[in-house]
Amino acid sequence: MFAERAYRLCGYCVQRQDGAGPLEVVEGKSCFVCEGLMGRVPKTAELAAKTVAHYQFDTFMVGVSLPNGVQEREDELRSDLRLKGNETIKTQTARLVAAFVSERLGKRVDRLRPDLTVLAMPGSGEVMVSTRPVFYYGRYTKPRGILQKRERCQSCGGNGCEACRGSGFEPGQSVEALLTRRLSAISGSGKMVFTWLGSEDKESKVHAPGRPFIVEVKSPIRRRFPPTFAVRGAGCQVSVSKGRMLQSKPTKLMTFRFKTRIIALASSKVEAESLSDLRRFFKMKEVRFERPYDKPVLKLVYAARASARGRRLFISAELDGGLPVKRFVSGELVSPSVSEVLKAKVECQRFDILGVAETGS
Ligand SMILES: [Zn+2]
Ligand SMILES: [Zn+2]
Repeated sequence: MFAERAYRLCGYCVQRQDGAGPLEVVEGKSCFVCEGLMGRVPKTAELAAKTVAHYQFDTFMVGVSLPNGVQEREDELRSDLRLKGNETIKTQTARLVAAFVSERLGKRVDRLRPDLTVLAMPGSGEVMVSTRPVFYYGRYTKPRGILQKRERCQSCGGNGCEACRGSGFEPGQSVEALLTRRLSAISGSGKMVFTWLGSEDKESKVHAPGRPFIVEVKSPIRRRFPPTFAVRGAGCQVSVSKGRMLQSKPTKLMTFRFKTRIIALASSKVEAESLSDLRRFFKMKEVRFERPYDKPVLKLVYAARASARGRRLFISAELDGGLPVKRFVSGELVSPSVSEVLKAKVECQRFDILGVAETGS
């Protein structure tokens, strides 16, 4: 049986049909399938190229959104004429737009893991761009007096209010706030999530080579960050070094150990002999940390030694990541502790981070 009527198709739409059939080539507007939509594809492709030119990327893919009915009419035509067809109107549109962008900007199509995806909507003539998040690893150093993390706004608890000008955070300085400011400027996106390899106090100084962190920046416009940079806050500076882009989101956080210098105060004068005991005792010594709301863990103290001036103690220690310095000194939830070994009540007054070493992942 032959179909009764010839289908009127535009040049684009006839290309996609593989069989000879009662097909008549007409002007776009009279096209049975696209009603002129395909004629707007070159303009859409041009807009796509112009839009994505503002982004930094190596690979991309094109998605297509068509008005209702277009795909259905092509399906109807094909089933009526028993045509298998070469490609769908969607794949043809995507191919045309991708070829144009690729040619214009010298970028490569990667459908599995594109840096950037452009959604072409030839129906309305619009395009939308989305980008794959980037992951950046770096190490920061910080002076005394600034926090690591931003604090949630105390008035609203993080939802955003007048007091915090809608940010949800306290206004004070922090490593997070300073890095966010700079990385927003670099990436063109303020949407980021930090993962820190351990933490320290506001009054802790973090010395070079610094504490590692990983930041995920969502919807970046630019996706290559410098290996080193410094951000100045009011009277302070946070520096980042050893920075690199990661291939993907780390599945597991690496483990680490760190060196710290502690100033502590003992409840009574500590004898030189006790200080020698401390040094002998904490040599590759496992301690138990009763984590609040979590299972207890064993952590290693690689070494610890101390000198004293009156009741004041200067302790140098190398500890497993995740062992809290203050608790290691006081003995609160950690055993054995400095207090325990010195048989005195010892309180940490301040600690600095001298070095953090990754020990595995
Ligand atoms: Zn058409
Ligand atoms: Zn608030």
